[in-house]
Amino acid sequence: MKKLNYYFKKAIKNGFALGAFNFSNLETLVSICQAAEKANSPVMACVSEGAIKYMGIDFVVSMVKTAKKQYKAPIFLHLDHGQSFEMCALAVDKGFDSVMIDASALPFEENVKLTKRVVDYAHKKGVFVEGELGQIKGIEDELSNDENHFTNPLQAQQFVQKTGVDSLAVAIGTSHGAYKFNGEAKLRFDILSEIEAKLPSFPLVLHGASSVNQDFVNQINSLGGALGKPKGVDEKLTHVAITKHNVVKINIDTDLRMAFTAAVRSTLATNPQNFDPRKYLQAAKDNVQQVVEHKIKNLLNSKNMA
Ligand SMILES: [Zn+2]
Repeated sequence: MKKLNYYFKKAIKNGFALGAFNFSNLETLVSICQAAEKANSPVMACVSEGAIKYMGIDFVVSMVKTAKKQYKAPIFLHLDHGQSFEMCALAVDKGFDSVMIDASALPFEENVKLTKRVVDYAHKKGVFVEGELGQIKGIEDELSNDENHFTNPLQAQQFVQKTGVDSLAVAIGTSHGAYKFNGEAKLRFDILSEIEAKLPSFPLVLHGASSVNQDFVNQINSLGGALGKPKGVDEKLTHVAITKHNVVKINIDTDLRMAFTAAVRSTLATNPQNFDPRKYLQAAKDNVQQVVEHKIKNLLNSKNMA
């Protein structure tokens, strides 16, 4: 199988991005893989530290190993928001394809130091590393951050030179979680262009880019849910970042959770006599797969890029 950097280069050249889809159960992982297979698209299957805690790292690794054997589509296992050297090193040792070290809450020099330590360790074993500079607003697992600190383009250049990271998550206005914006969502394409001027052809990453499908929100709310009015990033904006800029990886978590939960609620509501998890989880799988297929075709442009 070709390595991740092959697809990053190809993505910049061809104006597509890899979907980095989070999973925390077998159903979601299988749905991601089946969608990738059907669309002949490369895909990243991501786990956060919270997801690892929930499933156990050996289950995570074995499931993805099995998926790689079963599907022709390139599937990469990625650690999302690794918080420490130890966590990243564990993922490297266990056979992940790529790890993210998120030291973005630390002062610049400390972020550089910790990220470089992870890069030195991971690169020895052929594992790719994503760093983060600038802070992305919102809630990611148990991490919450109230303020947006946009990435400084000059610092981005220094960060990449000093650490040797393979890709960089930048803060240009996307936000983690389901409740991204009160008003209209805006992305700072001006900052993105400045970063690209300092780092030509360098792979960039956007986190917190779920679009939060209002049909799912309404479905969940009408069936007893109480989500209020969550709001995401318009896919048109993210699409510009992918096709006109060097964004090669888009993280998507909330959209899959919404699709999953909407299907479970609706199946249980329409079949109140059902107590077979296979029935409502099958519906969840179908819904998640449809969302991933939609993202691959309409947002990521990664169809037939395997
Ligand atoms: Zn993130």
